[in-house]
Amino acid sequence: MTDFHYSTDADGIATISWDIPNKSMNVLSMEGLAELEAHIDTALGDESVKGVIITSGKPDFAGGMDLNVIAKMKEMAGDQPQKGLFDGIMSMHRTLRKIERAGMDPKTLKGAKPVVAALPGTALGIGLEIPLACHRIIAADNPKAKIGLPEIMVGIFPGAGGTTRLARKLGAMGAAPFLLEGKLSEPKKAKSAGIIDEVVPGEELLARAKEWVLGAKDADLVKPWDAKGYKMPGGAPYHPAGFMTFVGASAMINGKTQGVYPAAKALLSAVYEGAMVPFDTALKIEARWFVNVLMNPSSSAMIRSLFINKEALEKGANRPKVDDEKVRKLGVLGAGMMGAGIAYVAANAGIEVVLIDADQAAAERGKGYSEGILDKGMKRGKVTEAKKAEVLGRITPTTEYAALSGCDLVVEAVFEDPKVKAEVTTKAEAAIPADAIFATNTSTLPISDLAKASARPEQFIGIHFFSPVDKMLLVEIIRGRETGDRAVAKALDFVRQIRKTPIVVNDARFFYANRCIIPYINEGMRMVREGVAPALVENAAKLMGMPLGPLQLVDETSLDLGAKIAKATRAAMGDAYADGDVDEVVFWMVEEGRLGRKTKAGFYAYDDAGKRQGLWSGLGEKFDPAGDQPDLIEVQHRLMFAQALEAVRALEEGVLTDIREGDVGAILGWGFAPWSGGPFSWLDMLGAPFAVAVCDDLEARFGARFKAPALLREMAQSGKSFYASRASMAA
Ligand code: NAD
Repeated sequence: MTDFHYSTDADGIATISWDIPNKSMNVLSMEGLAELEAHIDTALGDESVKGVIITSGKPDFAGGMDLNVIAKMKEMAGDQPQKGLFDGIMSMHRTLRKIERAGMDPKTLKGAKPVVAALPGTALGIGLEIPLACHRIIAADNPKAKIGLPEIMVGIFPGAGGTTRLARKLGAMGAAPFLLEGKLSEPKKAKSAGIIDEVVPGEELLARAKEWVLGAKDADLVKPWDAKGYKMPGGAPYHPAGFMTFVGASAMINGKTQGVYPAAKALLSAVYEGAMVPFDTALKIEARWFVNVLMNPSSSAMIRSLFINKEALEKGANRPKVDDEKVRKLGVLGAGMMGAGIAYVAANAGIEVVLIDADQAAAERGKGYSEGILDKGMKRGKVTEAKKAEVLGRITPTTEYAALSGCDLVVEAVFEDPKVKAEVTTKAEAAIPADAIFATNTSTLPISDLAKASARPEQFIGIHFFSPVDKMLLVEIIRGRETGDRAVAKALDFVRQIRKTPIVVNDARFFYANRCIIPYINEGMRMVREGVAPALVENAAKLMGMPLGPLQLVDETSLDLGAKIAKATRAAMGDAYADGDVDEVVFWMVEEGRLGRKTKAGFYAYDDAGKRQGLWSGLGEKFDPAGDQPDLIEVQHRLMFAQALEAVRALEEGVLTDIREGDVGAILGWGFAPWSGGPFSWLDMLGAPFAVAVCDDLEARFGARFKAPALLREMAQSGKSFYASRASMAA
């Protein structure tokens, strides 16, 4: 396999073109890195070569590192994974440093051969770290291209010199959004931020790169950090301005990550410590911190869930093997909050949409929702007038079911009432082709029950979106008892078209995500009722990396919805219903008229503009938090186990069939502590024996809801973990 192609021309320019066969995007592997180094050696050793262009044979430059490489480095080093990683990373540094020095005399700083990166399109991660080691970065004016270092998003940081180079190039403050937030920019913005040097029309890219190489002077080839007297822009740590920057950055990181994401802190340490030493030592420091992060179980869990498994699910890891089921024309029934959102994401993905509501005005309002989003996009310069017209042109608002003719998929999002749903199912099925798939977006009603209204239950399925539809990344696909494979394939292909992440689960009360989030919310309210300080409950959750405390989450979703779900659940479960103590809190809040953010009054107080203030003081008066308060860890265990045990039960019961879906779905669906990689990864991190011991203790003190599921207990006895069991089953 050849990843990098080498050629020279009559003017003495060597071109190294990255073009991995049979892949749409270049990613760097260890073999690729060795090839790149060999080509650099050839170019530097060949007297007839005057300079080098590194570019790509594809529309994009590169998507990043093949993240499996990290696992390989660890494995290859046997019982010394740290050493394997450190050596592997230092070999990357060596190659990139070779490009950067390009044969330069270390004393005179003369004699280097110019190396330019010519980027036709997207350059991410290592795909930008290689260019950052070149003497100049020229990008094609391609507004679709993304330039940046998104590593932090999967729990690591740019560890092939990107951290050290960008911090030295832009200063700590300037580099912060790109390193700490993984901000991606199109080429022109990347140029104004100072990340790249030049943007030219695509067709002139290589000619301009060549022109630059031929005209480059010795001084153009010395990086600021290799020149005498280099000072970090904005000041190094012991400079007065730098001192302020680093103190502020440290506080900001701790505030944002609550100390649970190791990568951000390690990144800042690498920049801080690296800023006080010469460049080559800084690279070594960066490598040490990088190894530190890679050895933290959080980074492997995040990479596994948020990168490898998320991508596998998006590509259809659990898709039944049936023909292409891409949606061409979609019917949406109900143009309310959800229906309007579904219509927008589908139309935006190029699908023709018929949007039906009971009256024309409601249908039009539903379409208006898309207009609102597109207008906002135009204001931010992200959407053009033409794009807006195109998307809106795809949505037909109507009350006529006949308009559904030719739809190959219908998603129903009318009121949460089985009778109304049955009625629209019958009407729609009379209008759509016999082979069309019908999906319901219900959040609480069993799919198999709703399917009874369908004449074709094997073509009936649940496609459960989360609100707001245009922002939430997860879609839960629910197989009813009779749902057939083609319906599942259709739902998965639809989710892929609208670029969201699917999980496929079996039909059971609350499916998967809501099933796990409800116990979290309930545990929070239960503690308030017990007299645990509400601030302790909320902060304990946030310190575990939950994006919202349980009380804030109830405020966002509203207490009347909570009361409605509680009533329905109680009716369905009868004597088995175990949340009576929680209802006491919910119903009292509803009586007080404190329904959450929408009424500007809930567990939190809000100002007139609806901005959240502090926790509502009346809460403490009703449920007095006097007396001994529990330990932080205990509160955290209650909140986390409430969710994680429910996930395990969903697996035991066959609602979930794949722990990858359980983990990815938990992070994207309700924000389960992303640093942990999801509930199954978290339990693996704790180890089943410890997890069971905690369950036993919680069960003894707080009740049967914390009883360790048999599966977990079994794993504790046999010394297994969820992911090890999965791997041995897959092998
Ligand atoms: P909504 O009340 O905002 O919208 C429902 C729409 O359906 C209304 O516009 C109504 O006029 C229309 N409608 C009612 N009866 C109709 C009929 N016979 N024919 C045509 N249109 C009819 O409700 P929503 O929040 O959009 O929820 C819709 C569905 O999505 C429900 O099943 C709900 O459980 C589910 N859901 C909601 C959320 C959420 O967060 N709101 C999340 C996931 C799923």
